[in-house]
Amino acid sequence: MDNTKCLICGMNITANSYNLNNSTFINENKKENIINCPFCGVDIIYIDKKKDIYDVDEDKLNAESLKILDKAMKLEVFNGEFYREASKLAKDKKVKKMLKDLSNIEFMHAKIHKRLGGFKELPKLRKPDYTKHNTDQLLLIEANKREKHAISFYNRKSKEISNEIIIEVFKALSDVEKQHMVITDKKD
Ligand SMILES: [Zn+2]
Repeated sequence: MDNTKCLICGMNITANSYNLNNSTFINENKKENIINCPFCGVDIIYIDKKKDIYDVDEDKLNAESLKILDKAMKLEVFNGEFYREASKLAKDKKVKKMLKDLSNIEFMHAKIHKRLGGFKELPKLRKPDYTKHNTDQLLLIEANKREKHAISFYNRKSKEISNEIIIEVFKALSDVEKQHMVITDKKD
């Protein structure tokens, strides 16, 4: 395969990285058939060798847009941390791996919002105790709930934001969460 890059997260996709986080995809990436960005999960339409990555001039964003990006960043960190903890709590090997991969993807989403908003660092959030989700089934139910919440967040906020680039990024990420909703559903 030829090296290429993701226009949403900006990461380079190479023969060494194409199969990262494969357990988060309905159809896995293969060396000669890349379907999703292995880092942020977006669709192949956002993967291109030559085009410029999606970027905005954060100084030109209005206060409302910055507020929404800050919220989006926090939501993704919150979910990324949930998945990291959940993968430690999960018992089944495959579920463990999927939750860890999901954590990687959600943290990458947080970094995308951080870059777009020109924020200095990812927020440090108070960590809830997730041990009440004491079976893999309960962890997946919680995961599924979070994915649905993220999708509705992106839908709602896309209507409140005026910047076309951010709207496009929200759509791309929302589609990733839709895949997550499917893979965290009906696991028993
Ligand atoms: Zn990406």
